[in-house]
Amino acid sequence: MVTRLCDLAPSYIRSIAPYQPGKPIAELAREMGLEVNQIVKLASNENPLGVGPKAYAAMRDALEDIARYPDGNSFALRDAVSTRFSVKPDQLVFGNGSNDILELAARAYLAPGAEAIYSQHAFAVYALVTQAVGAKGVVIAAKDFGHDLPAMLAAINQRTRMLFIANPNNPTGTLLGKDDLLSFLRQVPKQVLVVLDEAYDEYLPDTLKSESVDWLAEFDNLIISRTFSKAYGLAGLRIGFGMAHAEVADIMNRVRQPFNVNSVAQAAAVAALHDEDFLVRSYALNQAGMLQITQGLTKLGLEFIPSYGNFVSFRIGNATGIYRRLLEHGVIVRPIANYEMPDYLRVSIGLFAENARFLEVLEKIVEEAK
Ligand SMILES: *Cc1c(COP(=O)(O)O)cnc(C)c1O
Repeated sequence: MVTRLCDLAPSYIRSIAPYQPGKPIAELAREMGLEVNQIVKLASNENPLGVGPKAYAAMRDALEDIARYPDGNSFALRDAVSTRFSVKPDQLVFGNGSNDILELAARAYLAPGAEAIYSQHAFAVYALVTQAVGAKGVVIAAKDFGHDLPAMLAAINQRTRMLFIANPNNPTGTLLGKDDLLSFLRQVPKQVLVVLDEAYDEYLPDTLKSESVDWLAEFDNLIISRTFSKAYGLAGLRIGFGMAHAEVADIMNRVRQPFNVNSVAQAAAVAALHDEDFLVRSYALNQAGMLQITQGLTKLGLEFIPSYGNFVSFRIGNATGIYRRLLEHGVIVRPIANYEMPDYLRVSIGLFAENARFLEVLEKIVEEAK
């Protein structure tokens, strides 16, 4: 009897559902025989403005030194982030994307026998990193598509080591109020780490931002994760960071690969942090585009979940069929059946013309289906 190669992996690895990324532009171009420039990709919450000018210039400069290993301690970036967020340099952990931070947290603190709690419809990577280390994922039913914080608290037991919270959450776009979040943190036992994933923080108006970084002083068990992939426009470069108590950061740094963040990414991130103008433009474009898309959906009679990110999920019959029809017209959105939302599609906010194209094609498809 021949052992199947997949059976050689532990059962908790075999049970991991593969992550389903947005369809790449080049792939659709090949499949449909379309030109790359005919395709509109609104599927991965990328910044439609592209990369900022300062980050781009820094990347080009950094290429000159690409034969050298990167600074394994990200010294310049550590200094820049520390100054920008008023945290001590030893409270920071840098990652190859913020997904790396989520994974470092799981690898540092979870193990077989431990449990991690996260919400239904929450970002898929929480389950992935939890299962990859053999820990048990405990999924709490969502409330109005958002996190049910009291239910999450009630699920904590002796084995609970970690809680994942996405704020705003992807793919639902829901946001927790800062008072609710603060009161939740006060009730979480100190031996349970709370990973607060704020990948879309830059898209929030100031009035809705949590003062999460200030909370680090009160909660030793808090890990905040941020990314350069979204508003900063550096998704392809892979860079994000975590902020935590220095002891937590130290433990996470021990499981980190020494050169996990490449030198081009470090240089670009420093420059991006100093490009306030690009961030302001990205925010404004997203606000306008969100209005454009949600008004367009309303006009088509489609229901959507009000979103605080740079994307919105809307409800539509035959979501898979509609997704495919959109692809045929060169428009890539994201099906989210794997998030237990089979009747929804998620669309990222793009440039004005991209949003218009999406709405125009969607209208045509909806009309045809009538
Ligand atoms: C996009 C996203 C991230 C960012 O992932 P990176 O690895 O930094 O590109 C993290 N969390 C959520 C909820 C996201 O949607």
